[in-house]
Amino acid sequence: MKENGRLIVISGPSGAGKSSVVFRAIEGRDDACFSISVTTRKARPGEQDGKEYFFIDQQRFDKMVADDELLEHATYVGNSYGTPRRFVEDKLAEGKNVFLDIEVQGARQVSVKMPEAVKIFIIPPTLEELKKRLILRGTDSAETIEGRLIRAREEYGEADFYDYIIINDDLDEAAQELNAILKAEKCRYPYRSYKLAEV
Ligand code: ADP
Ligand code: 5GP
Repeated sequence: MKENGRLIVISGPSGAGKSSVVFRAIEGRDDACFSISVTTRKARPGEQDGKEYFFIDQQRFDKMVADDELLEHATYVGNSYGTPRRFVEDKLAEGKNVFLDIEVQGARQVSVKMPEAVKIFIIPPTLEELKKRLILRGTDSAETIEGRLIRAREEYGEADFYDYIIINDDLDEAAQELNAILKAEKCRYPYRSYKLAEV
């Protein structure tokens, strides 16, 4: 029997290390992939179209929403972000685990459409450390960093919506925790019960 893949929703404050943890965890795994979002945000230095995001203008974004091409979408600190639906549906059907790195409003929309999605909240060890990482990343202005720190506090208030929390202090340990969650989720009754019929 070919199993469908699992949808894994990752949220947490910008700069917590979500993409670092996900990419460390799925390195070398051919059963997992990352969904690339569309955004109206400008690319940061070093970011490439089609790698971190598909960078599009607001008109194109609005058309994707109108044509129902996005699984979910939201505005975050003044920019629009969304998850292209087709890629996610195709990869899940191929049996791959698909990771979404999305903020809380988007996570809620996904959870309504796909209640079986695994929801994981990633946080830094402290908000001081978060600020340090955002400054060190060197991709955001001081004003944007302040906006992201205010948003981080708001997001913490919604963490109870998630199934798991990973504290990204040591990157390797955080990636190991993420892989451990995937392993445990695979053993859940609804995903394993078909085996009972085979004995
Ligand atoms: P997010 O995807 O949550 O916005 P990133 O993965 O871009 O966060 O990480 C933000 C910054 O913090 C990057 O410069 C990254 O290299 C760094 N970082 C990520 N995880 C850790 C960690 N465990 N310890 C120290 N720095 C980290
Ligand atoms: P950044 O601009 O730092 O790359 O991302 C800002 C926030 O947008 C992060 O919290 C990230 O998880 C979220 N985000 C990225 N892509 C999407 C998406 O497709 N949908 C939603 N809802 N949020 C997204």
